[in-house]
Amino acid sequence: MIYDNVLDAMGRTPLIRLNSLSEEGSAQILAKYEGVNVGGSVKTRTAWQMIDQAEKRGQLKPDSIIVEPTSGNQGIGLALVCAVKGYAARIIMPDSVSVERRKLVRHYGADVIIVHDDGDIGKCIAECIATAERMAAEDPRVYVPQQFENEDNLFAHKYHTALEIVEDVEGPIHGFCSGIGTGGTISGVGQILKRLYPDVEIWAVEPENAAILSGGGIGTHLQMGIGDGLIPAILDQEIYDDICIISDEEALDTARALARKEGLLCGVSSGTNVAAARRLARKLGAGKTVVTLLPDTGERYFSTELFDGE
Ligand code: PMP
Repeated sequence: MIYDNVLDAMGRTPLIRLNSLSEEGSAQILAKYEGVNVGGSVKTRTAWQMIDQAEKRGQLKPDSIIVEPTSGNQGIGLALVCAVKGYAARIIMPDSVSVERRKLVRHYGADVIIVHDDGDIGKCIAECIATAERMAAEDPRVYVPQQFENEDNLFAHKYHTALEIVEDVEGPIHGFCSGIGTGGTISGVGQILKRLYPDVEIWAVEPENAAILSGGGIGTHLQMGIGDGLIPAILDQEIYDDICIISDEEALDTARALARKEGLLCGVSSGTNVAAARRLARKLGAGKTVVTLLPDTGERYFSTELFDGE
């Protein structure tokens, strides 16, 4: 099989049964490994969907400049898509995200604009968004996909991530959980699962220090990519049945266990998702199936606490 370009090779990521991290008497846990996706994360899918649809709507010209505020992976995905399609890209990100993310964005040929995070990630993301809006107001070539508001972000998960999951799983899915960055994953996958399996139990997962849906405050946390301190416009707040809060320590421990016990190299939010999936699996019990995502590869975390001591 020959792909015409790297974007054609996107998606169709493997769904992998967790063995050591599953418990006796619990549901089986199936994890969709986006770390092996093109671009190393689930966000290549959303980048492609947002750019492809903007092109189809006639919103882009060859000299368009794609500008996006992002806590990381969306910027890498957009830089990759723009490299293939030939658009200029400028990615605005907090200085609190890992240095690997910045380097990857630059490596794919996009510019990086850094905004200082003084410990309030919500304020910093709002400043990133305001910077993108200013750039759009000043230059008509600028197009801002705005992943937090863009329905194509949700559609990427509804029509690709979710359909891949239901194709791969034989029989019903009883539980699904996902951390929330833009809410695209939980909303898109959740909408398909609820339609096919109305009894599926869906959990939104939040970092302990950014449990905004649970009415908590926003502080610094280590679960990069989720808990951005805002309730995103595209988040379907009807889609989850419960909220599960995970501490940084549990997320890090679980992400390390994924590498050491399952051979799955992935980022901290994968630890968050699997920590929550284990609780959901315990609740649902033997004979049931819980699905979650491993949103990105661990290789963009060398400089972070995930690799501390190595
Ligand atoms: N984990 C990581 C590492 C991410 O980059 C993202 C995207 N921000 C998410 C989880 C959450 O995905 P979503 O934006 O679809 O809620």
